[in-house]
Amino acid sequence: MNNLQNVVILGSGCAGNTAAIYTARANLQPLVYEGHEAGGQLSITTEVENFPGFPEGIHGPVLIDHMKKQAQRFGAEYRHGRVVKADLSKRPFTLELEDGEQIQTRTLIIATGASARWLNLPNEQKLIGYGVSSCATCDGFFYRDKQIMVIGGGDSAMEEANFLTRFGKQVALVHRSDNFRASKIMLERARNNPKIEFITNTVVEDIYDVSKGFVTGVKLKNVKTGETWDRDVDGFFVAIGHIPNTQPFVGQLDLDPDGYIISHGGARTNIQGVFHAGDVQDRTYRQAITASGAGCMAAIEAERFLEAEGH
Ligand code: NDP
Repeated sequence: MNNLQNVVILGSGCAGNTAAIYTARANLQPLVYEGHEAGGQLSITTEVENFPGFPEGIHGPVLIDHMKKQAQRFGAEYRHGRVVKADLSKRPFTLELEDGEQIQTRTLIIATGASARWLNLPNEQKLIGYGVSSCATCDGFFYRDKQIMVIGGGDSAMEEANFLTRFGKQVALVHRSDNFRASKIMLERARNNPKIEFITNTVVEDIYDVSKGFVTGVKLKNVKTGETWDRDVDGFFVAIGHIPNTQPFVGQLDLDPDGYIISHGGARTNIQGVFHAGDVQDRTYRQAITASGAGCMAAIEAERFLEAEGH
């Protein structure tokens, strides 16, 4: 079986879909592996109001679906699945899927994004979707007039806490120190919001109540005094950053200490024929439109690379 591809795109968020549109229109018949969070971050948001071209806003999942259909119209093929291993030491590159299937490709566009970081408490994973969330935009709605807690001290935590005051009776913002990474303006906005209570120098030790099947409260600990106490909580939002999905490429691609791909100019990585697009490389802008722009860049670079190699 000849399974040699011109272009394989990993990820189906804005970056992957835009790369698919461009490479498909260049007649390269890209193969897209959708990844374990098909559609990327927009597929779990509601209204997107800042993507140019939609004066009334557009639903994230609808925008993603439009992009996918647009790519398919020009011949892009979408498959479920996730690459778990990659051999980028020689061309064509070899990729291995979860089920053991192997694919070879002349070029690779990595648009695998970044996934939410968790606290890794024993009960956290068991209660995801039952009170534990990493996405205020997706789940805030369920906590109307409820007690909400947000964990973190960066811009994400400030943004989520502010946003969640639209729904919750009260929002407790818990941070492990009293130094905030958040920008001054975001921090001030949260501090000035009367519905937000700051609880600093404090960590979460446990989340209750797995036996009930949903979140009822947490155990907190003050790291300075050692004091512990329980607090009632209905919605528990973790906003402590993201982990880029680059595990299959460790030791092959140049990555920064947090695992983000280091760009070698444009959409290029340190390996010729391997390109990056979106949040897997971008820890600064992280917007739908910048991810789309990056997908376009990666596609154009892949196209030129193939042309230069005579394909
Ligand atoms: P950050 O890395 O900036 O902040 C992560 C926060 O989580 C820190 O306060 C960190 O604490 C805390 N944290 C990390 N691990 C743990 C843990 N295990 N337990 C408890 N706390 C933990 O991530 P963000 O997602 O907030 O922001 C990422 C980037 O995105 C930033 O550049 C930010 O500016 C940007 N952004 C911009 C927005 C905007 O402008 N609208 C909105 C959201 C994000 P500590 O400091 O102690 O390490």
